[in-house]
Amino acid sequence: MKNEGTLIVLSGFAGSGKGTLVKRLLADYNQYALSISMTTRMPRPGEEHGKSYFFVTKEEFQRTIDRDGLLEYACYCDNFYGTPKAYVEEQLAEGKDVILEIEVQGALQIKEKFPKTLLLFVTPPSAQELKARLVGRGTETEEVINKRMRRASEEAKCMPLYDYIIVNDDLEECVKNTHCIIQASHSTPDRVSKLIDNLKEELSSFSEGE
Ligand code: 5GP
Repeated sequence: MKNEGTLIVLSGFAGSGKGTLVKRLLADYNQYALSISMTTRMPRPGEEHGKSYFFVTKEEFQRTIDRDGLLEYACYCDNFYGTPKAYVEEQLAEGKDVILEIEVQGALQIKEKFPKTLLLFVTPPSAQELKARLVGRGTETEEVINKRMRRASEEAKCMPLYDYIIVNDDLEECVKNTHCIIQASHSTPDRVSKLIDNLKEELSSFSEGE
């Protein structure tokens, strides 16, 4: 039987580079699967249904909640976002490490339901750098950039609740570090509890009669 994979939540400020990091993890290593979220927001140019998101109406989103089809969901900037349950469960059972790229409220719901989840938070090295990246994209107005910086300030309050903070300065290093952290997490006692139980069971015969 395959070992069950690890559930990994990756959060980070808009502009932290978390999307690029996820793409690289999927491209460079064969052990990851990415969960595609469901959302009520409109697609942006270039986004495809079923690839970027499952774009649905509010009614469909509500129906999915009602039939217990989401692992978590949250409202972010007036739109709903949620993680479809079935795909995540299938991939974990297949032994894949499943990545959820979700914001902090959803991350905390997941950690509460599944305490073994690895929570990773991606950040640029400084707030100036974050702003420079958002300005550098050239796609957002100053008003939107300021809104995102205010949101980042709120999100930063939840950073201490994550398991690891990933500083995304040099992308190559960031990809390798993230992969190493995930690999190391496979060996924590809560994730190898079956091995520990088996060893205890096998070793118990040696202590009998002492
Ligand atoms: P965007 O609209 O820019 O694609 O995403 C906005 C925010 O929603 C991002 O922080 C993204 O990580 C988060 N997000 C995407 N999918 C989900 C989801 O399924 N659940 C939650 N809680 N957040 C999500």
